[in-house]
Amino acid sequence: MSARDIAIIGSGPTGLIAAERLAGAGHRVTIYERMASPARKFLLAGRGGLNLTHSEPFDAFLGRYREAAGWLEPVLRAFPPQALRDWADGLGAETFIGSSGRVFPRAMKASPLLRAWLGRLDGLGVRLAANSFWMGWSADGAPTLRSDAGVVQTIRPDATLLALGGASWPRLGSDGGWAPLLAERGIAVSPLRPANAGFTVAWSRPMRERFAGEPLKRVTVGFAGEQASGEAMIDVGGIEGGVIYALSAPIREAIIRDGAATILIDLRPGVSAADLAARLAKRRKGETLSNHLRKAAGLAPVAAALLREAAGAELPADPEALAALIKAAPLRLEAPMPIARAISTAGGIVREEIDANFMLKRLPGVFVAGEMLDWEAPTGGYLLQASFATGVAAAAGMQRWLLREQGG
Ligand SMILES: Cc1cc2nc3c(=O)[nH]c(=O)nc-3n(C[C@H](O)[C@H](O)[C@H](O)COP(=O)(O)OP(=O)(O)OC[C@H]3O[C@@H](n4cnc5c(N)ncnc54)[C@H](O)[C@@H]3O)c2cc1C
Repeated sequence: MSARDIAIIGSGPTGLIAAERLAGAGHRVTIYERMASPARKFLLAGRGGLNLTHSEPFDAFLGRYREAAGWLEPVLRAFPPQALRDWADGLGAETFIGSSGRVFPRAMKASPLLRAWLGRLDGLGVRLAANSFWMGWSADGAPTLRSDAGVVQTIRPDATLLALGGASWPRLGSDGGWAPLLAERGIAVSPLRPANAGFTVAWSRPMRERFAGEPLKRVTVGFAGEQASGEAMIDVGGIEGGVIYALSAPIREAIIRDGAATILIDLRPGVSAADLAARLAKRRKGETLSNHLRKAAGLAPVAAALLREAAGAELPADPEALAALIKAAPLRLEAPMPIARAISTAGGIVREEIDANFMLKRLPGVFVAGEMLDWEAPTGGYLLQASFATGVAAAAGMQRWLLREQGG
């Protein structure tokens, strides 16, 4: 195929991997990015340990994408977790599997990987136009960009990939501003909603003042037949953390439907209710309830406080009732925390709007990929894996389209 001019808008992992594929195939690629430097969210993702993907068996892995698993399956099979690990290896960022099955680069951070990646893209001739804000299309359908200095330019590439991300952490560049621009073109966009986010809780004042910022370690949370184990974090206005994020999709949808959702927290997942009741039955004379809960049931002060919140009034004196509460403390969640604080975004361009090449059916020559598509997944490496895999698929789709529609 002869070399074509390709515009990629957005320099997150989706845009960068597509640029690598397209430039590697000999095309002239320019990446337009609104921020002064590329991949800010990818860099931030690396701050707490860059969880690139997950090592669990493929079927379990695929199931994490819930409703989107069906249409993402061929995309993820074409660029599976091992392909992402091999790619990172190739950039000198060898990966390892952590104890939870999550995959990280040995350096843990994103910065060495990104540096090597940008070097590779530079070597492939990819041009990065930073401080270039995509504003939509001109009257005749050409992408329009505005520089920091306010200069507006219209570009006329042979094909465009939009890789603009979701709407979480907007200060890093992705703010979902593309959604109304696409909707104006008649493209169906499912409302952008917080995913992997915390939820608000009407804490009592003592809980808010004494325990905000405290981790609730090794708990199991149950909601609507699903369970997740791990750590939660008490926030001044609610609850967040991995174990909450894992169930955030069904909890969020239940809140939208019913106005609130009640989760059940097992504060001692390793101990049976019968064992707990037996231990709680032996309370020493004069021992405070807090001390008793700490010594007999192994509850940290924050867990004991949560138990009190769950009870609403006095804690039950009967050891069996107390043990039952420790094993299933109800907590009412009132609303998702704002999308700006979420790890990722649910909603986006609906699947039916794109063809097998990841091209918008209503806008020939415009391809879309990454978090701006309508899929969601928990934390654990699934977000980056699907961003990379859809970026790879869109790059391949664009090449097929260029070859067929434009005669190579
Ligand atoms: C705190 C945090 C930690 C995370 N940790 C992990 C993790 O460990 N593992 C994991 O799998 N996922 C993680 N994620 C999620 C992951 O980072 C995202 O899913 C991924 O970056 C999405 O890639 P993307 O390329 O589709 O979008 P983005 O990375 O959001 O990139 C989109 C780019 O488009 C640019 N852009 C947007 N609008 C315009 C415009 N109008 N004009 C020009 N440019 C524009 C943005 O500035 C941005 O650079 C984390 C996210 C956060 C917030």
